[in-house]
Amino acid sequence: MEHVHCLIIGSGPAGYTAAVYAARANMKPVLYTGPEPGGQLMITTDVENYPGYPEGIMGPEMMEDFKKQAERFGTDIRMEMITKVDFSGPVHKCWSDSGAEIHADSIIIATGASAKWLGLESEQRLAKNGGGVSACAVCDGFFYRGMDVAVVGGGDTAAEEALYLSKLCPKVHMLVRRDEMRASKIMQQRVEKAESIQVHWNTVTEEILGGEQVEGMRIKNNKTGETTEVPIKGFFVAIGHKPNTDIFKEWLTLDDVGYIVTKPGSTVTNVPGVFASGDAQDSIYRQAVTAAGTGCMAALDAERYLTEREII
Ligand code: NDP
Repeated sequence: MEHVHCLIIGSGPAGYTAAVYAARANMKPVLYTGPEPGGQLMITTDVENYPGYPEGIMGPEMMEDFKKQAERFGTDIRMEMITKVDFSGPVHKCWSDSGAEIHADSIIIATGASAKWLGLESEQRLAKNGGGVSACAVCDGFFYRGMDVAVVGGGDTAAEEALYLSKLCPKVHMLVRRDEMRASKIMQQRVEKAESIQVHWNTVTEEILGGEQVEGMRIKNNKTGETTEVPIKGFFVAIGHKPNTDIFKEWLTLDDVGYIVTKPGSTVTNVPGVFASGDAQDSIYRQAVTAAGTGCMAALDAERYLTEREII
């Protein structure tokens, strides 16, 4: 059994930023990277909207920089996963996949969220090699300006992404699997008004076409059975996200979807000494820069918590 002052779970922008702040505050943080070290940015190609990189940077390279910065101040980074927690006492107990038991005075959760995918082989192949399939229009839409694209989904995210893309692209095909959208009325009205958005009702994706790059899609009307091939260059999946919070649900207050509920304006959860940052607690912004911001907040909240109790 090992006792630490500050355990950080997760290694995206939130986790590494929390580590930089915690290490510089002499909290001797230990960071468990989780199953996907670097988080969602590891499957992104160019990042052009993170301040400080005027020429843009590749997602994996940026995460390597985050990691180096956290290491520079002495963060103990472990390429392992926390698989179980027990938040019943004042000291929080965690177990790793290698069987280690860690007791922590404070915990910073930065486990992120994962985009949901359709599950097509072509989708995974073209998403991994930056071939034109993405789960974030705000991140990647700019690369498809002037080109025809598609957005899958009928919720607020899909509506928002379609509207965002409609300002960059001559034609946005929005694929909705039922004859109505789940999105709020106001978003639906905006989609209706946008001339460049064409909504395909009762429509599912059979295949994304293209070898190295998206060239089109084969879609099927699930009422009539009719299939159509449509040329596009970008394919955006917006069918929801799943926060990676399953191991905490017994202890922390989560919303209906599974996002950790924090006290507004802070990273404080319902368990004293446990702080939540990044996409695990943010269903709205989900950007690298906002995740980094809440990672910083979590480290400052944890430092205050430990100082008030004279632990550090
Ligand atoms: P939602 O769960 O609300 O919507 C998911 C959409 O994707 C639904 O239309 C769903 O269809 C569709 N879908 C799910 N699986 C598939 C599939 N396999 N194939 C095709 N379509 C599929 O997720 P969102 O990310 O849109 O929103 C999450 C939450 O965040 C919501 O509460 C939303 O209101 C909120 N939000 C708010 C925003 C705002 O206020 N500006 C912006 C973005 C999100 P079906 O309806 O048939 O199940």
